[in-house]
Amino acid sequence: MNCRVRFAPSPTGDLHIGSLRTALFNWAFARHNCGKFLLRIEDTDRARSTEKNIASILNIMELFGLNYDEEYVLQSERIKRHIEVVDKMLEDGVAYKCYCSQEDLQRKKDDCIARGLSYKYDGTCRELEKDDMTKPFVVRIKSDKVGKSCLQDIVQGDIETDNSQLDDFILLRSDMTPTYMLSVVVDDHDMGITHIIRGSDHLTNTFRQMQIYKACGWDVPYFAHIPLIYGQDGQKLSKRHGAVNAQDYLKDGYLPEAMLNYLVRLGWSHGDDEIISKRQIVEWFSLDSVGKSPSRFDIQKLNHINAHYLREKDDEDLVHLIEGIVDIPNEVARNNVLRGMCGLKKRASTLKELAEASAVYIDMPRNFEESCREYMQDINLTIIKKVANIIMNIGVSEELLLPECRKLAESMGVKFLVVAQTLRSALCGKLVSPSVFEIMQIIGQCDTIARLENFIRYCES
Ligand code: GLU
Repeated sequence: MNCRVRFAPSPTGDLHIGSLRTALFNWAFARHNCGKFLLRIEDTDRARSTEKNIASILNIMELFGLNYDEEYVLQSERIKRHIEVVDKMLEDGVAYKCYCSQEDLQRKKDDCIARGLSYKYDGTCRELEKDDMTKPFVVRIKSDKVGKSCLQDIVQGDIETDNSQLDDFILLRSDMTPTYMLSVVVDDHDMGITHIIRGSDHLTNTFRQMQIYKACGWDVPYFAHIPLIYGQDGQKLSKRHGAVNAQDYLKDGYLPEAMLNYLVRLGWSHGDDEIISKRQIVEWFSLDSVGKSPSRFDIQKLNHINAHYLREKDDEDLVHLIEGIVDIPNEVARNNVLRGMCGLKKRASTLKELAEASAVYIDMPRNFEESCREYMQDINLTIIKKVANIIMNIGVSEELLLPECRKLAESMGVKFLVVAQTLRSALCGKLVSPSVFEIMQIIGQCDTIARLENFIRYCES
């Protein structure tokens, strides 16, 4: 299919994960259909659009590998063209200049509100015959007033509205800046966009935008309005629910490939498949399988998927990734983390957790979690002293040490678990870690003894 789709973020803040999902759906649709995926930065809100936000959007696109075709379009650079279209619309009589003052409009609005009615521009200037050169004006569209508009939405199905609901909305403000409604349509038309895939919060805009297409005599693209993402409480996903920005999730240690996998499943499905690689997204994605009902963001599911991708990742790559989060002071520590990675990655859901857990290979514990107290009794100290002795004699190879520790447990009349947890407290300062035998083997005899002695000192002090 010769499709051309676009992602059109406004650089007015950090990129919401809902927007990231919109970008993904557009990208996947284009790649699946061998079409083009374009990027347009909608920076016409000059007060709120910043260079930093634009850079951040470009960065996100790169980090998530949502590569776009052609140069990206900066909407603000196209204002002349937007105005040119308005001039043509005026010439064709499908738009008109409105001279109503702010005060008049506000008065009418207040009046409507007072009477419990919804406000809509009343068309005072719609049929004016002559221009008034002395007054400032805005340009409004001459919307259809009778009949119906029908949208055949790929996701939402057929939706009809009475044209009597439509208002003569503004295309050009009195300071000659085009409105969002106009710019979007002109740009989509000029960029040859065939399918507009975006959040269902744009549905009401679509009926207005269809009026512009019609007034200009342009082909209306296909629309696909994808349901919004809700939080677990059924409300639109917002800061109240925790992190909502793509960047924050990366900072919290989620892998881009895991996030794409999770996000593509929010609204779209391929049977019961949970783990879907980027290649499979391209292979399988279709708007036909996008559901109508809103999806709920479930952090547990995301954690589960992220954990899967962590386990799949190469150990060396993971060390490299956690180096951005935790300071690994030297080659010895780095090498230990690398050797321990296989065991570490089985237990972590995020890179952040992985980085925290890798501390056991970087340094001896500087403090001990409260939960370790249980393993700081006299009997535990005796265990540690005995294990230290054994290690001095036979080293830290798991093959030799494990049976010795079993024997020790038996001879002291305690469960093996007590020996293991005591060792875990001493070596890690906490009770959750990879296998203690694996840790000892990796950090080596000297470091193990040093940690056991440190524990004894701490308990005896
Ligand atoms: N710039 C709009 C937004 O960020 C999107 C416009 C569109 O997709 O048509 O919400």
